Amino acid sequence: MSSAARQTVERERDAVRARIAELDTSFTAIADSVDTANVDDEHDPEGATLAFERAQVVSLLGEARARLDALDDAMVRIDAGTYGTCEQCGGAIGVERLAARPDARRCIECASVGARPGRSR
Ligand SMILES: [Zn+2]
Repeated sequence: MSSAARQTVERERDAVRARIAELDTSFTAIADSVDTANVDDEHDPEGATLAFERAQVVSLLGEARARLDALDDAMVRIDAGTYGTCEQCGGAIGVERLAARPDARRCIECASVGARPGRSR
């Protein structure tokens, strides 16, 4: 596969890494304010807010890390020469889809058939 694909995946990976660094900073900031406030998560309204924010950051971090894994995977497929090939039907995934989702493993047809209603990912 072309070096253009590699560049796209690398750029996306950098963006996700930056996002993870940002979220890590937020997480630390929240953890610090929990420590300094010495709040009780269950009874203090501020503590509940902090707990909620922390849970959100943790969930976003999880998503970002999963995305980073998917992009690492895409890089492996580029090296193996299978990048851009649908793993389900063996057809081409399509340049536009890869531009929008560099980590896509399936073509748009297979992805939409396989997708469950109500789930966007
Ligand atoms: Zn397919």
